[in-house]
Amino acid sequence: ARKAAASAPLTDGALADGTKVPLLANLGKPGGAAEAVALGAEGVGLFRTEFLFLSSSSAPTVEEQRAAYIELLSAFPGKKVVVRVLDAGADKPLPFLNDAHEENPALGLRGLRALRASEDILREQLTALAEADAATRASEAGPADLWVMAPMVSTVEETRYFTALAQDYGLKTTGVMVEVPSSALLADRILQIADFASIGTNDLTQYTLAADRLLGSVASFQDPWHPAVLRLIREVGAAGRANGKPVGICGEAAADPLLAVVLVGLGATTLSMAPTALADVRASLLTHTLDDARRIAEAALAADDAASAREAAQAASSSPV
Ligand code: PEP
Ligand code: MG
Repeated sequence: ARKAAASAPLTDGALADGTKVPLLANLGKPGGAAEAVALGAEGVGLFRTEFLFLSSSSAPTVEEQRAAYIELLSAFPGKKVVVRVLDAGADKPLPFLNDAHEENPALGLRGLRALRASEDILREQLTALAEADAATRASEAGPADLWVMAPMVSTVEETRYFTALAQDYGLKTTGVMVEVPSSALLADRILQIADFASIGTNDLTQYTLAADRLLGSVASFQDPWHPAVLRLIREVGAAGRANGKPVGICGEAAADPLLAVVLVGLGATTLSMAPTALADVRASLLTHTLDDARRIAEAALAADDAASAREAAQAASSSPV
């Protein structure tokens, strides 16, 4: 029976009323693509490019990067692939990019801020991405639908900077990650400029609750069910709807089957997760309509804390109106 289930065609992500919710994979290496496809990923919602940089004492060459991006894009012909430019600093320090002496590295020169301070590295990465896109366009299988986004964007001006620069390299679909409360609160403005937003709930939770995601003593604060986090996600969802722009989720929150329903109720249009989480999230979405998801999200939003938000969502989810 297991074998039969494994070879049965996997359905695309959808709610019980047929509303499509594309289910995408978070990948950290191109080598993970085959497993993601086998588990039914409809594309890639977050390709973390750090692996190219972490093992060396200097930045990889354009050629090295291009080869990795071609391998990735070739695995998803006709599918959406969202690549995040290098997210260095804080929990992912790089000796050649980050200052090891910052007192508060999570609040320092990280993500897009660090790339902007070493703009040659960002330009090389955009060059390699554009070249990989062009190379796969000429391939037999056809191109993937390449989207490019920047991590740790905290202002409208940074959004303008990144999208304009990426467009200069011919990259057509350019967006930003919403991982900081400032960008969630300004999502209506940001989405007038960016083609899409992708919410990184790991960092958004860290910054909303002001609790270091790496620090065990404050780990209980790192819970994306917190209504403060959910309210910020609601802002981004509403901004997406108002501007007709997609809003994805690519933090760990999307892998929680009940929270995934809440996120859709808050306005998320795609969910991206570790490929092993796809089956349970797919099954959970299929048991709720969009009206259900909105009602369950309202119940969670009305709670005082993360634990009661989860309980309220559970109760609302098992008592259909
Ligand atoms: C996030 O912050 O939720 C995210 C997806 O990015 P990372 O975990 O790589 O910081
Ligand atoms: Mg992050």
